[in-house]
Amino acid sequence: MSEKALRAAVIGVGHLGRHHARILSSIEGARLEAVVDVNEPRAREVAAAVGARALTSVLDLAGQVDLVSIATPTETHAEIAALFLDQGVPVLVEKPLARSVAEADAIIAAASRAGVALAVGHTERFNPAVMAARPADNPGFIEVHRLGTFPERSLDIDVVFDLMIHDLDLVLSIVQSDVESFEAVGVPVLTDRFDIANARLRFSSGCVANITASRISRDRTRKIRFFQRDAYISIDTGAREAEVYRLMRTEGRRPAIEGGKIPVPEGEPLRLELQDFVDAVRFGRAPLVGGDDGRRAVALAAAITERMAACTRI
Ligand code: NAD
Repeated sequence: MSEKALRAAVIGVGHLGRHHARILSSIEGARLEAVVDVNEPRAREVAAAVGARALTSVLDLAGQVDLVSIATPTETHAEIAALFLDQGVPVLVEKPLARSVAEADAIIAAASRAGVALAVGHTERFNPAVMAARPADNPGFIEVHRLGTFPERSLDIDVVFDLMIHDLDLVLSIVQSDVESFEAVGVPVLTDRFDIANARLRFSSGCVANITASRISRDRTRKIRFFQRDAYISIDTGAREAEVYRLMRTEGRRPAIEGGKIPVPEGEPLRLELQDFVDAVRFGRAPLVGGDDGRRAVALAAAITERMAACTRI
């Protein structure tokens, strides 16, 4: 018996949303019906490229879709997500889930009332380099650098909600313990929000994570390094490369460090993320990254930003 493809739409087809549209137009189990963007020429351009209808209002989609992917600016996520969830339509919301914990809670409550899937676009969880090398044991120390050039986009949020949130989610998913305390500092440079930030998190397991994010750097860096008693893991999420080194002990000899680059399978993180969402809807299971994960990252990002605002005298 042939399975009917789920009717999909992408809301917001700017920098990232056009990739959602490209992928959803060629993914197993779904058929891209429409793209929606308040910028009409953009909606038409992307729709023509992927063979879907172009719309300029989400209201025109009522009753016509089985799932949507939302890639509009963060300040619009809560309103647009609730609109679809209240109609019983499963939703994938780009990261960050929302700009506040209260908005994240409202989205989660709407999904729970409707009893439908809510996925959050924490794409790094689907990065093949992360999947190949993520540590199995609790790390002792984590060092993260996520630096980028000035984006001219996502300026409705600061660098913590824009970039650092990727690593907050990743670190929280790997370190299976609570954040006990943290220090944070941020500097607004080109905007009146924080453009560069550092947070040092201490977990109750004893692990310390030192996370730096910048959207005003000259070069692009995406590095996450894990230090453990007998292993060192270095992941370049941008290049999708990973190195793993382990301590080898031989009786009567000084321990030696062995290792190097490990094989990383091919795969586009966004495609893997969207396939997971479509499959969650098709097979009635939870998506890999759900509303609670999105909320947890938003809550930590909000606490970090609050602390930075209270401590920054620069
Ligand atoms: P963008 O500004 O390039 O695109 C946003 C688009 O949404 C624009 O085309 C805009 O016209 C449209 N839009 C705004 N309000 C709308 C509405 N009410 N209805 C329909 N369309 C509307 O922004 P972007 O860089 O693509 O970011 C979009 C979202 O994706 C943000 O939440 C951002 O944080 C997230 N993002 C995630 C990643 C990732 O790696 N997962 C990367 C980049 C951006």
